[in-house]
Amino acid sequence: MNIGTIGHVDHGKTTLTAAITKVLAERGGAKFTDYNQIDKAPEEKARGITINSSHVEYETDTRHYGHIDCPGHADYIKNMITGAAQMDGAIIVVSATDGQMPQTREHLLLAKQVGIERLVVFVNKVDQISDPEMLELVDMEMRELLTTYEFDGDNTPIIMGSALAALEGRDNEIGASKVAELVKACDEWLNLPPRDLEKPFCMAIEDAFSISGRGTVATGKVHRGTAVKGAEVEVIGFGTNFKTTLTGIEMFHKELDRAEAGDNMGALLRGVKREQLRRGQVVIAPGTMKSAKRFRSQIYVRSKDEGGRATPFMSNYRPQLFMRTADITVSLTFPPDTPDASEKMVMPGDHVTMDCNLHFDVAAEVGTRFTLREGSKTVGTGIVTEILE
Ligand code: GDP
Ligand code: MG
Repeated sequence: MNIGTIGHVDHGKTTLTAAITKVLAERGGAKFTDYNQIDKAPEEKARGITINSSHVEYETDTRHYGHIDCPGHADYIKNMITGAAQMDGAIIVVSATDGQMPQTREHLLLAKQVGIERLVVFVNKVDQISDPEMLELVDMEMRELLTTYEFDGDNTPIIMGSALAALEGRDNEIGASKVAELVKACDEWLNLPPRDLEKPFCMAIEDAFSISGRGTVATGKVHRGTAVKGAEVEVIGFGTNFKTTLTGIEMFHKELDRAEAGDNMGALLRGVKREQLRRGQVVIAPGTMKSAKRFRSQIYVRSKDEGGRATPFMSNYRPQLFMRTADITVSLTFPPDTPDASEKMVMPGDHVTMDCNLHFDVAAEVGTRFTLREGSKTVGTGIVTEILE
């Protein structure tokens, strides 16, 4: 599974990442990656957006982890909103000397919004603390904060130690042994993500046509799950919602009995007319998704250097929203409780919470990602955080 270190700048995320590889390297579960190798993360262009991130891998007794660490706050924001390197769980690092800070809270909020269900807390730099009551306070504060952001504050494992001590191979009782405890807590507390194949079936329609004598075929890519010939399916989006039967599955001009996540398929749909189908709708396992015309989202607005706008925009900005194969005009507004919403400007390079008001309904759920375009220019990337209507 994929995890990452998140938390306020300078609280020790990179040091901890290096320390984990060191401790696990000693057990043969990782290649030791030094602090400097992790911190000089290459500049990556993920879907046109510049993100710096480092990836390390390690193995525990039971799992293989991909681990991501970003150098800057903006990189975390961009990474989480775009899903460039997906995190299924995370280690939130908080320095015992500072306690929670603004980026601690912002990362927790985003982690929740992008669908991370569980976290493990590492309270770092305990070598700097002599008063045990300080540590109790940080423990209490973090549990409260987790609960505020709708994580399980009571049961989340909180490990207190020193990443630097572990990395430098000293003070084992707060160093390496605590890092080992942290890794064990990840194994036990973080849930493995469901595999795409186990999720309910969803295919995004790219095109539809009639084959004389056979009926209507919708073509597209299976996003998740498995399609089985003869199954009941539902078509939703763009003002439509009907059930039908998947009477045939075609791939590379061959008739097959099933198709699965990643496959491009043609779906023969019983009793459906060509006019009932259009690009942007989805074919799903009945009842597993709903379409929405309004949802709240987190949006990263590309900077000019990333090919985005040169100028800010305001409420009621109307770009095109692309979600899977759907392409819909959207009006972006600030959530109703936003102060001075009518004067508020969104600058290129910002990230922002906005409500998407769509011209047509589209199959959407919390965690669905989309892009915003103006003509051929991609101006932003977003993720659905709440369905409104
Ligand atoms: P990041 O910005 O969250 O990645 O933080 P870094 O890992 O770069 O650490 C920031 C600073 O804190 C560096 O100077 C580290 O050496 C220091 N640091 C990290 N962990 C510890 C620790 O356990 N104890 C002490 N005293 N310093 C630490
Ligand atoms: Mg760092």
